[in-house]
Amino acid sequence: MTAIFSDTQKRRLRELGVSIAETELLFENNETRDRKYQSFERHLVKKERERLDEYIEKSRRPKICTLEEKLAKRLAAEGFIQVSTPVIMKSASLAKMGIDEVHPLFSQVFRIDEKRCMRPMLAPHLYEIARELLRLREEPVRLFEIGLCFRKESQGAKHASEFTMLNLAEFGLPDTERKQRIEQLTAIVMNCVGNADYAYEVEESEVYGDTVDIVDRATGMELGSSAMGPHPLDRNWRINSTWVGIGFGLERLIMATDKRANMGRLARSLTYLDGIRLNI
Ligand code: ATP
Ligand code: MG
Repeated sequence: MTAIFSDTQKRRLRELGVSIAETELLFENNETRDRKYQSFERHLVKKERERLDEYIEKSRRPKICTLEEKLAKRLAAEGFIQVSTPVIMKSASLAKMGIDEVHPLFSQVFRIDEKRCMRPMLAPHLYEIARELLRLREEPVRLFEIGLCFRKESQGAKHASEFTMLNLAEFGLPDTERKQRIEQLTAIVMNCVGNADYAYEVEESEVYGDTVDIVDRATGMELGSSAMGPHPLDRNWRINSTWVGIGFGLERLIMATDKRANMGRLARSLTYLDGIRLNI
């Protein structure tokens, strides 16, 4: 007779960070299995408690918050100004991004009422502020926002319904330098992030047409999407400039550096504190 971990045991081990493969072990019988489970669970709880002690005594701040701060400082040093715009967005602003009823993102938007929604992206507000800055200042205009975005997702391992986006944009550069600039800006961001190895991939984007994505080289996971203009959507925002822009997901950037396959632990949570399970 052989035995495998029960569903409850598997669930608990998964909570404590064990990979699916490791929960598929075979045992001689239920008694051996339960003994193994108990010692395994005790060991994992001890490790989580040690991680909690270290968090409280040393780092004290979630990785996502320190990354956000590091990125903001670095981008400001590169001449980008930080903006902080409302998370509540006019639905009309999304329409100006070409997100209408038939657009795939349309059904992912959390609506508040007829006129307002929770922003699923930062670009519309950046367009709006860039227009004013381009009126008030000489080019180049460089700006970025780091903030929450909301999307109804089928909650896979790489999606959360609320996540942190970094969107940066530079207006006013020679046409011929856009691609190179995207690569430079990506390098600046990835440098802040740490040891993630990335590659570029051409992707068809619903909003911008063809875009270049930045992907985690090891897993192929999308880390960011870039776009460039002049672009047909610019007219809706009365923008007449050459530009590049990139949007990165901060949780995905941390997944890539920490070699994590699952976003669950990194997303905003009541059960994890910076990835440390609390029911231990
Ligand atoms: P995907 O195809 O992976 O769903 P996307 O192309 O729809 O992503 P973009 O609109 O390009 O996403 O958003 C820019 C970045 O924001 C993505 O590259 C990704 O890193 C991050 N991102 C997008 N949706 C989510 C989500 N639901 N949870 C966490 N991060 C996300
Ligand atoms: Mg994308």
